Amino acid sequence: MIVQTDYEIIIVGAGVIGLAVARALAIEEKRSVLIIEKEMGFGQGTSSRNSEVIHSGIYYPSNSIKAKYCLNGRAKLYEFCRRNNVWYKNCGKLVVAQIGQESQLTSLFEQAQANDVPDVHIVDRLGVSKLEPTVSAESAMFVGCTGIVSAHELMSAYHRIATQADHDILLRSTVVGVEPKGDAYLLEVKGSDDINYTVTGRWIVNAAGLYSDKIAQFLWGNNNIIRPSLSYSKGSYFKLSTKWRHSVRHLIYPLPDKEKDSLGIHLSFDQAGNMKLGPDATWMQNYSEDYDVNSDNLNAFYLAAKRYLPSLESIDLSPDYSGIRPKLMTGPNEPSDFYIRHEPDYPGWINLIGIDSPGLTSSLAIGEDVARWITNESS
Ligand SMILES: Cc1cc2nc3c(=O)[nH]c(=O)nc-3n(C[C@H](O)[C@H](O)[C@H](O)COP(=O)(O)OP(=O)(O)OC[C@H]3O[C@@H](n4cnc5c(N)ncnc54)[C@H](O)[C@@H]3O)c2cc1C
Repeated sequence: MIVQTDYEIIIVGAGVIGLAVARALAIEEKRSVLIIEKEMGFGQGTSSRNSEVIHSGIYYPSNSIKAKYCLNGRAKLYEFCRRNNVWYKNCGKLVVAQIGQESQLTSLFEQAQANDVPDVHIVDRLGVSKLEPTVSAESAMFVGCTGIVSAHELMSAYHRIATQADHDILLRSTVVGVEPKGDAYLLEVKGSDDINYTVTGRWIVNAAGLYSDKIAQFLWGNNNIIRPSLSYSKGSYFKLSTKWRHSVRHLIYPLPDKEKDSLGIHLSFDQAGNMKLGPDATWMQNYSEDYDVNSDNLNAFYLAAKRYLPSLESIDLSPDYSGIRPKLMTGPNEPSDFYIRHEPDYPGWINLIGIDSPGLTSSLAIGEDVARWITNESS
């Protein structure tokens, strides 16, 4: 329970993005900050249901918001992990192409160059087998700056920095309404005891992940202006049996699936060398947090990965976990993008909507920009 009800800044959502904003505010001047989170702990949503990849920035159109934050965030993230004892590994990755896919690989290579991604080059079949003897491909793009990170340790570090700066965090509390009030905003909150109460903030940072469009809608109401609206894309993972532990040194990606706006079923690993395949991409018809992994999809995962892992057997796979991407599509056949804005018609209100992949990679860069907007306008 909080004792104070009036804050300078309120952050809705304690995922990696809300926590990154809190961390960036904490390293600037001292302020009163409240983080409101509907779950029992921080980082229990999408932020702990992903691939934990530090993305290079090769995929995104050069003028996209994703490209800007991924490229900027990647470098910051490596540095932050080094300084704050967060586990990471700069393992690199291979994007593999099979016969007939060479032109797609060339387009991706050109996009990587246009985005100024360092340490990227094409390798032929022999080069692939030298780098990864268990992987088969006609050619591949090697990307040296890709890595993996412990999302949990990263969020714990952000949370530690924020709480050391005396930020308050309210758990098991859901924002259920918003009302502008003078130069501040009044948030209606449903607490763990099912009792509603209100808190006010001069600045509101909407970092509510899967519900960020709904939180913004509380403010905008039902006028006819087209507002960002999320689509949910579920991504499931299957783990590989222990005989596959440490079987590759690089992450192995197929070419991206543009139709599904996904990177394709890839092979990645965790801190202990355990291997997993995924995520796939399925549009969800309902807006529920349904995290069940459908074991009927095992064969589709097996066939997708068998193309680049010829010795894989279907008995090596078993269902693991899933996450849901909050996707903001930019148009028919267009890739999704982030919506990151200090709303001009609503001073003090910052919307962070559609933060799907590469949100983890971008978190420090997004957090620092948001903190800078608040600091510059408050001074
Ligand atoms: C399958 C998958 C794979 C991915 N892989 C990668 C990857 O490898 N690398 C990468 O960089 N990114 C990846 N991402 C993207 C990354 O996980 C997200 O961009 C990031 O976690 C988003 O963080 P967030 O804080 O915006 O959202 P969340 O983690 O969802 O946090 C939002 C928080 O807000 C809370 N909340 C919601 N509504 C309310 C409310 N009304 N009141 C109070 N609290 C509320 C939620 O409980 C939640 O804790 C992946 C995503 C998915 C789904």
